[in-house]
Amino acid sequence: MPDYGAFAQARAAAPIAGAIRRVDLHGAEKLVALTFDLCETSGEVAGYDGAVFDTLRAKQVPATIFAGGHWATTHAGRIGEIARDPLFELGNHTWSHANLRLADPAKLAREVLAPEAALAPARAAAAQCRRADAASPRSTDIRSAPARSTLFRFPFGACNANAMAAVNGAGMMAIQWDVSSGDPSPLMSADAIVQATLAGVRPGSIVLMHANGRGYHTGSALPRVIDALRAKGYRLVTVSELLAAGTPVVTETCYDARPGDTDRYDTWGRKPARSVSSWPTSSPMPTAAPETTGSVIARRPISTEGPPATKH
Ligand SMILES: [Zn+2]
Repeated sequence: MPDYGAFAQARAAAPIAGAIRRVDLHGAEKLVALTFDLCETSGEVAGYDGAVFDTLRAKQVPATIFAGGHWATTHAGRIGEIARDPLFELGNHTWSHANLRLADPAKLAREVLAPEAALAPARAAAAQCRRADAASPRSTDIRSAPARSTLFRFPFGACNANAMAAVNGAGMMAIQWDVSSGDPSPLMSADAIVQATLAGVRPGSIVLMHANGRGYHTGSALPRVIDALRAKGYRLVTVSELLAAGTPVVTETCYDARPGDTDRYDTWGRKPARSVSSWPTSSPMPTAAPETTGSVIARRPISTEGPPATKH
């Protein structure tokens, strides 16, 4: 099996600038990448959705997991399990799920770099484990456990030029999505998640889901999503595998379904505290948005930013 971790490391030496939304595949094989975010702010302990990982393992589905640094510290055992499992690749989802459009340079650096230190022990243990596994005659997968993240996901689907430069400067590529399952909304039933996902997926898609317990019906929807995609002839792969199979479709800025639709989170944190039911959701039925293929340098001017958002 090719070493996609090494591929990602090599590619990250010159990260693709801009937000990667999907991949134009070079071959005829229908590939799709399921991604799961582990979001957690510094003032909470979110959760671990065991049903998601049980399903991925039972159905042997490779997946890309974007872990927050704070989540990794409050779920040290779980992050170790995820890092050790060759089905999964780990990416960086900031330290405290901050809106990086609002971060000053010091906070930006901390949010991008601190998760790497938090993930390092799990990665080191995983590398040792995988080396031992590789020596086993029963081993079928000797993919390396990369020493650091090459993939990054912006919280809220929100970025600006400074934030993108910080991520790319740290050797990471911004992996956003072209299909939002809508799972952070408690109002999205399992049926609705299945429908939204299947309606949006096309070959080369990157699908956004959550595994921190705030994909409220993700666990019940996921087996159906996987079975339906496989029935349609899709092979489920990690983001690194997807990137290796084609040309990334890159946009200058970050968004959910269309440019500008996540800018509302710039004011979201300044409003009075809300219940968990108002955790930012993504549009369940994304529509086509302008995209370009290949590398695009972000030229968006620095936005006028207000004070940092309060915790949510
Ligand atoms: Zn998140």
